[in-house]
Amino acid sequence: MTPTPLSRRARVAGAVAIVAALAGATVPAATASAATGTREAAISQARANVARNAGVFGFGAGQDLVLKDVVLDADGASHVRFDRTFQGLPVVGGDLVVHQDAKGKLKDSSRAAAHDAAVRSTVPKVTAQSGAAGALAAAPGVKDAVSTPELVVWAADGTPRLAWRTTVEGTGEHGQPAGKVVVTDATTGEQIESYDAEHQASGTGNSEYTGTVTIDTTAKTGGGYTLTDPVRGHVTKDANNLSASSLKASSGTPFNSTTNVWGDGKKFSSDRSTAAVDAHANTAWTYDYYKNVHGRSGIKNDGKGATVFVHVGTNWDNAQWSDTCFCMMTGDGDGTTDPEQVDLDTMGHEMTHGVTSATANLRYSGESGGLNESTSDIFGTMVEFYANNSVDTGDYLFSDQSTPPWLRRFDKPSLDGRSADCWSSSVGKLDVHNSSGVGNHWFYLASEGSGSKTLNGVTYNSATCNGSTVTGIGRDKVAKIWYRALTVYMTSTTNYKGARAASLNAARDLYGAGSTEYNAVAAAWSGVNVS
Ligand SMILES: [Zn+2]
Repeated sequence: MTPTPLSRRARVAGAVAIVAALAGATVPAATASAATGTREAAISQARANVARNAGVFGFGAGQDLVLKDVVLDADGASHVRFDRTFQGLPVVGGDLVVHQDAKGKLKDSSRAAAHDAAVRSTVPKVTAQSGAAGALAAAPGVKDAVSTPELVVWAADGTPRLAWRTTVEGTGEHGQPAGKVVVTDATTGEQIESYDAEHQASGTGNSEYTGTVTIDTTAKTGGGYTLTDPVRGHVTKDANNLSASSLKASSGTPFNSTTNVWGDGKKFSSDRSTAAVDAHANTAWTYDYYKNVHGRSGIKNDGKGATVFVHVGTNWDNAQWSDTCFCMMTGDGDGTTDPEQVDLDTMGHEMTHGVTSATANLRYSGESGGLNESTSDIFGTMVEFYANNSVDTGDYLFSDQSTPPWLRRFDKPSLDGRSADCWSSSVGKLDVHNSSGVGNHWFYLASEGSGSKTLNGVTYNSATCNGSTVTGIGRDKVAKIWYRALTVYMTSTTNYKGARAASLNAARDLYGAGSTEYNAVAAAWSGVNVS
């Protein structure tokens, strides 16, 4: 299936909204760096202190110090951290810290488990190949793995021995990059330890649309963090303004951070990771909505995460899902009124295209195309309600944050000047983003009922097409019915009449034939002229 665009239709005439300023987001101030001379002096003094006090540090023949970090106190005291090598091999558990006063005089020392770092021989009895194979066998959860062994002196328990430290890198159960580090004795082949190469981390994101949020990131083996969600498997990357048509899942560059604090909370930000915060967080909300409400694990229900691109194209005021890429792609907006297309309902809309294509696969033209678009609007809106965010509150306005004041609305879709409120025999000739109005209007009537209503500060007024009065049963129930209709009863050629039948089947399954819910679904369809 070709990529399905979220069309950005003409805005409502005269409707210009002032975008509410987000709560000011603060980033911790960077630690003041001292003058280079002071730092350099502390390092050379520390090296001299270790050499002069070799007994204290267990620093003997064949060893070298590898500088790792320097902390300078306000009073001039310094704390210089080193790793050690033995005959060029890294010593695991050989790190130490030299504490010095302002004059560089040794005050104290901190050491990891290793004292002496010497091993009798640096020639392994177990081959690298055998170490690598053993490590692969010890990492059963990692698929398509590449195993890279490195000879080390392992002294984390205090006794130095020659060992293979093998990094196994591949793919985890959610399709995310995953790895294990396996350490084996290079003399006996015995496994010493095994641990995950990457660690789940919790970052702080200063988003554009939802304030300061917590995001799931990954701590990298070599230090720092990246926007890989280890819980849900999606990876958020910078498309570097490549066009949507030229993107592959392997395109773009990952986002990295040393602090795990991301973004500056601004729209149209020069900090490229700001849009990535929203895309990353809102993809997680969408994943969680499907998982926790509908029991669906990811787009294909296989627990795998997609690739999410931000900064696609140049002033591309759109977003889309691509099946072939298994990617979400988001543009930067028009550069003036519309900011980055990464808000909650937009991400929910795009990911839902993936869900639709993995299930009913509604053809993207005619009435089935309108149903496809409506399904994305419905679940995008449900994701927004589900996130329950105090800045981007739930509403029946679609893309209200990134296309202010809104792109489409549910209570009376025709207010956008293009969409249909009611079914007619010609509705299938409309653009799919406008024939979707019938489905969106049905969803509103079934959820909230006809008439006027104010919700989270937004006033709606929904009239039926047949003059009837409809009493809503709440959006959560209607969404459950719609999800079951989509995944169980609809097919690629379902039209509005078929959608009525599918949703009534679903309502019967969930609540019983003739139940209040069943009758409300029927009444709402009749209310949009689908009988
Ligand atoms: Zn769409």
